[in-house]
Amino acid sequence: MSTLFVRTLREDPVDAEVASHRLLVRAGYIRRAAPGIYTWLPLGLRVLAKVEAVVREEMNASGAQEVHFPALLPKEPYEATGRWEEYGPNIFRLKDRKDGDYLLAPTHEEMFTLLVKDLYSSYKDLPLALYQIQTKYRDEARPRAGLIRGREFIMKDAYSFDVTDEGLAASYQKQRDAYERIFTRLGLEYVIVSATSGAMGGSRSEEFLSPSPIGEDTFVRSAGGYAANVEAVVTPVPEAVPYDDAPAAHVEDTPDTPTIDTLVALANAKYPRPDREWTAADTLKNVVLALVHPDGRRELVVVGLPGDRDVDLKRLEAAVAPAEAEPAGDADFAAHPELVKGYIGPKVLGPQGAVVETESGDKVSAIRYLLDPRVVTGTRWITGADEQGRHVFDLVAGRDFSADGTIEAAEVRAGDLAPDGSGPLELARGIEIGHIFQLGRKYAQALGLTVLDENGKRVVVTMGSYGVGVTRALAALAEANNDEKGLAWPAHVAPAHVHVVATGKSAEVFEAAEAIAGELVDLGVEVLYDDRPGKVASPGVKFADAELLGVPIVVVVGRGLADGLVEVRPRVGEAQQVPVADVVRVVTEKVEALLA
Ligand code: ATP
Ligand code: MG
Repeated sequence: MSTLFVRTLREDPVDAEVASHRLLVRAGYIRRAAPGIYTWLPLGLRVLAKVEAVVREEMNASGAQEVHFPALLPKEPYEATGRWEEYGPNIFRLKDRKDGDYLLAPTHEEMFTLLVKDLYSSYKDLPLALYQIQTKYRDEARPRAGLIRGREFIMKDAYSFDVTDEGLAASYQKQRDAYERIFTRLGLEYVIVSATSGAMGGSRSEEFLSPSPIGEDTFVRSAGGYAANVEAVVTPVPEAVPYDDAPAAHVEDTPDTPTIDTLVALANAKYPRPDREWTAADTLKNVVLALVHPDGRRELVVVGLPGDRDVDLKRLEAAVAPAEAEPAGDADFAAHPELVKGYIGPKVLGPQGAVVETESGDKVSAIRYLLDPRVVTGTRWITGADEQGRHVFDLVAGRDFSADGTIEAAEVRAGDLAPDGSGPLELARGIEIGHIFQLGRKYAQALGLTVLDENGKRVVVTMGSYGVGVTRALAALAEANNDEKGLAWPAHVAPAHVHVVATGKSAEVFEAAEAIAGELVDLGVEVLYDDRPGKVASPGVKFADAELLGVPIVVVVGRGLADGLVEVRPRVGEAQQVPVADVVRVVTEKVEALLA
């Protein structure tokens, strides 16, 4: 510790909202270089190397072979698959001196596809799985939580190449199994959930989420075994409702009812239902949103959903990817005076509203109107009458209005039913640490990766793509393993197994501590030795540092030595006094148990 390049901090960094970020900076593992971009210090690098080693071993064991691509790549392959455009502002683009376009790769599907195309041409060469552990760049809109959402981060990305769909399914399963082993070995709790494939394209996809209250992903689970990211939850569509005896729609005065609550209260007071009270679920709420397309185009859309539910922006974005979504602003409303805030109804939306002609000559709704799947034909609604202070009652879907389509944008709530009939859903949050995709033939098709099959026929290869967020997994480990005093690493990834602390002034103490450290090292135990003299670091400072750094076993050589005793303090658990003569054996056994 007297020579180690580290400075621990007693104060939390001001920009750190989550424990892993706070503690990794305070313990001297990482330093911020720019928003979402971090420098790795010696202790951090040791942990990173261990996490990478687990990933590498399991990838190799799965039969995948390691390669390494540049991070700086030409535009053309990404243009061929459309992703140069689709990524919009989310990638770092740059120019070389000849004005050529380059990017810092956010992920490498294109390059792997081209490499295999370059070298392989026969079905006999497949299946093949390749991977790399490499730095990725994404100009995230909201870098946050330190390593959890960085703009530069390390990903393990693997890709599989097969001739048949069955082959792809088998390659996918192999990677899935490897992921289970990786996260189990890392000691990271995980849940496998169905996912959407986002900008990646392709069919089947699953995410590995580490349950955590600070996770940005919300997932659902049913007792019957259904598990999905909320983004991927498909709403069970109710049966259409007969509406032959439904009254005609009628517009009523509903002054001062800009919110659902005020509207429901007024409806019950002034227009009571004979059979029961009106509730928010009887109202059709029309939420105006702006989609920002990768080419920068801004499009207003309105989502119509039962008034007891809110729009979940992440679900909406998953449904409209690669476009991004945001609530409409004042300028949007100013540009569309037909949208009467608080009283928006279907009359001015979608097929009922204005029509515009696209560049290609198609006639489309000026404002696309997308309905929640629950708004089925025959359902009856109270909704805006497109006039200040007025609502329309008994407006029947399919009779009085229609839309341009449906959209999965309504929030998923605890107690909603799982789409596969396996019971009510529970919600929890998680950190996405891995994501596996059956890409299918999209990339191979776009880039011309074909092989000759058994009959000499040229066929397009089918691919899978599999990512582990290596630096994010490290942060997730820090997030799951800490207390108010600092980090508390699982032994497999800790920067050392044992932290030997010498306290006091006497030379004997330091000699004994050094001897213990030396013997442990000779036995293959990784030791961090706090040899700082008392005038540089007091015992209090040393103990606080040991707790902050989070090495799993702390050995304190100090006052007790006069009585022949050394203290062995697990970072989490009870301390014990051990005779000096036994300490190496006791500690070695503990380390072995932790690593078992
Ligand atoms: P997210 O939804 O969190 O933005 P993603 O779905 O865009 O992630 P993938 O393209 O699936 O990410 O990338 C594979 C893995 O890389 C993710 O599962 C995650 O663990 C990691 N990862 C992605 N983006 C980041 C980031 N900005 N910082 C750190 N790790 C990341
Ligand atoms: Mg993902």
